[in-house]
Amino acid sequence: MATVNPFYANLPGNYLFAEIARRVKEYTVGHPDNKLIRLGIGDVTQPLVPAVIAALEKAVREQADAATFMGYGPEQGYAFLRETVASACYAGLGIGADDIFISDGAKCDIGNFQELFAADARVAITDPVYPVYADSNVMAGRTGALGDDGRFRGLVYLPCTAANGFVPELPKERVDIIYLCYPNNPTGTVLTKAQLAEWVKYARENDSVIFFDAAYEAFITSADVPHSIYEIDGARDVAVEFRSYSKSAGFTGLRCGYAVVPPGVAGVGPDGKRVALRDMWNRRQTTKYNGCPYIVQRAAEAVHTAEGRKQCQAVIDIYLKNAALIREAFLGLGLTVAGGVDAPYVWVTLPGGMDSWSFFDALLNRAEIVGTPGAGFGPSGEGYFRLTGFGNPAQTVEAVDRLKKFQM
Ligand code: PLP
Repeated sequence: MATVNPFYANLPGNYLFAEIARRVKEYTVGHPDNKLIRLGIGDVTQPLVPAVIAALEKAVREQADAATFMGYGPEQGYAFLRETVASACYAGLGIGADDIFISDGAKCDIGNFQELFAADARVAITDPVYPVYADSNVMAGRTGALGDDGRFRGLVYLPCTAANGFVPELPKERVDIIYLCYPNNPTGTVLTKAQLAEWVKYARENDSVIFFDAAYEAFITSADVPHSIYEIDGARDVAVEFRSYSKSAGFTGLRCGYAVVPPGVAGVGPDGKRVALRDMWNRRQTTKYNGCPYIVQRAAEAVHTAEGRKQCQAVIDIYLKNAALIREAFLGLGLTVAGGVDAPYVWVTLPGGMDSWSFFDALLNRAEIVGTPGAGFGPSGEGYFRLTGFGNPAQTVEAVDRLKKFQM
């Protein structure tokens, strides 16, 4: 038999969502008349907006006529969408259409991008964190095994807890790659321009590359919070940015996102010479990816029209309102809460050192609300709990009523 990639054996089991499902099932079997409300999910609940549906319908009809039918498209995405993204999202930031690589979502891009780096690249992740960052490096053999403390020996962890206001400290050692996600999943926190500038400075001084995950950029409401890392001077030489239409426009099922790779971001090749990551990513994508579907790219283009923007913003406002209600309910219980202002996620600090699975059980059994235990996002997530604003509004209002009556 062929030997398999041994590093997959280092992956932790997908314990979090399996365990949530097990506990929820056990509860529903014991309570067949339950009125469970699920606020643990990171998926959207509102339908695609009319501007997107109209663009999809038009693009589908084009496929029925030989004169307008589209086959293979450019692996990097159609020029119409790359140019639209460059002008709609990056005007004045020095990002051009050639720097935009359209894909079927941010998860694939973020999971794949680490391939461009050597196996011994030193990687830093914030903790708690979107699990893809760590797991994709585990698969690549970059992390070593999981220790008893829930940390991979070869990864640099940057704890984000109530103690530091969920703002990570700069690594004490030199690292090659830094994953930053702002607005953050799961904590819902953001970095100000000044805080993000510290990271760009570190990356420039240490020849590091920042992977900036801006999947929740559309949820930013505060003035001093950068929507793109390229708003920071010098970031174009040290950062790649990932964005997604999933949460900003309801494309979780349709699938579209993009990576921004400016030509100045580089690493070192085996001959000691500088290699532009944009050229490598282009080579990688043209080899392993055949492009996001034409009809989906037309749908994404519609998100950036005046109508599309207005309609998508109305949906984002629904989720932000949900998040604000959840946030206020927990504040009303006397708990400390992060997020829910510039992000759809609300991150609750549990009282008295309560562990996150105990709170999960209490909320499930006594309020019939399903959330996500913070421990599932990394060791520093223990003692915290995540709820999301992505639920349907009526159910969220009902959940908030239950929370107000909840005895801690
Ligand atoms: N990045 C973060 C932080 C996320 O939370 C998610 C999805 O939940 C993604 C990326 C994935 O986005 P996409 O649906 O575009 O793959």
